[in-house]
Amino acid sequence: MGTVLCGGTIVNADSVAQEDLRIAGEMIASIGKNLVQPGDQQIDVSGCFLFPGGIDPHTHFDLDVGSTTTADDFASGSLAAILGGTTTVIDYATQSRGGSLADALATWHAKAAGKSYVDFGFHLALCDCTPQALAELAAVAERDGVVSVKLYMAYKDVMQVGDADLLRVMQICRDQGMLVCLHCENGELIAALVTEAKAAGRLEPAQHAATRPEVVEAEAVARAVAIAELSGCPIYIVHVSSARALSLIRQAQQQGLPVAAETCPQYLVLDAMRYDTQGFSAAKYVMSPPLREKHNQEPLWQGLQDGAIACVGSDHCSFDFVGQKEIGRGDFSRIPNGIPGVENRFGLLYSCGVATGKISLSQFVACISTGPAKQFGLYPRKGVLAVGSDADIVVWDPGQSCLITAASQTQRVDYNAYEGIEQQGRVREVFLRGLHAVQAGRIATGPTGCYLMRKKRQQGEDTACTNSR
Ligand SMILES: [Zn+2]
Repeated sequence: MGTVLCGGTIVNADSVAQEDLRIAGEMIASIGKNLVQPGDQQIDVSGCFLFPGGIDPHTHFDLDVGSTTTADDFASGSLAAILGGTTTVIDYATQSRGGSLADALATWHAKAAGKSYVDFGFHLALCDCTPQALAELAAVAERDGVVSVKLYMAYKDVMQVGDADLLRVMQICRDQGMLVCLHCENGELIAALVTEAKAAGRLEPAQHAATRPEVVEAEAVARAVAIAELSGCPIYIVHVSSARALSLIRQAQQQGLPVAAETCPQYLVLDAMRYDTQGFSAAKYVMSPPLREKHNQEPLWQGLQDGAIACVGSDHCSFDFVGQKEIGRGDFSRIPNGIPGVENRFGLLYSCGVATGKISLSQFVACISTGPAKQFGLYPRKGVLAVGSDADIVVWDPGQSCLITAASQTQRVDYNAYEGIEQQGRVREVFLRGLHAVQAGRIATGPTGCYLMRKKRQQGEDTACTNSR
């Protein structure tokens, strides 16, 4: 017995077509017309779009940042994800100082086990490049299906990795068919600017942005590109926030270097005006990189249109305003960095992108699902509505709208960075590997997400999406 979704419009990164879709078991069995077989259930989805389930390539659930732990764990974060149209997340398993990579992965498996409402994979965030950790990288790809490693060029004395280690890790990852993700901000310069600000008595949240100007992002992007060129390793620059950083990435891409980019809804939709408020409430927008001046937004949208930016990740890293962000009252440098957004990424990109005409339906699917699947070794199992792919499907009703508010959200955090934005369109149904997980906008299953082994890259593999404009 299967399920046939009838009367909808199927949207992929390279096509838009009015077709029906039949699900059998966990997979998409057929796409076309007259698909109903005896015993099948039929669901009328006319007027709706069928999108491949969203893939959020950048989340931090249940992350201990030293002074506190993120408000969302795998249960609350993944439930918020699926209700918002995301069926896969790739979370950052973070190595502890002196710890092994196997331990980091075991810890993250324990955090997620039996709790996740969406399928999930892990990147490894490498913050201590010991000989032992470097020796483990090959095993991590083979044994654990973890084919992406993240390195931080910021957070001096905590997670920051120097240039020599960047080079060594890239050399290993190049040989292993792994992708290196980079947080590009110059941590040395930031530390100096923070010391200067504090010495001058400038302690309010807005100083977070003032001490992380665009130039420290641009410098680190240029350095990352140089090391990628030296090593020949494919790199993926996470959370690109400024036009200046993006133009350096474009230059690298035009030279034929394997440099991919991600941006986040916050850099497309919010801007630095959020720091111009009196009092401590600007702490809600303390994230790294910080929000930028509004003129950066159009170039970032342009990057999504022409494919210079492959992916949109939420960088969901939630902390309550009360009791958590407040750790930094009187000292901006102690405010936990990050904002919630895993629930809103998909809807914001549709609403602020497709509904306003900034990006096409296919460009939307490219950055929200297909791009992440291709970058991170999940394609074509995920990221496309095609026969034989997992039946991860979002039925999206473009005729409905909803107001984004903290009061109505599922994310377990006491504010929403996008409070008051009217979202055009909303999730009606979600299927996760054929299971009808969200029905009429409500969760209908338990936490059935499973761990995803991801594939290594082949030499010269084409990870670009061909958009139908
Ligand atoms: Zn992050």
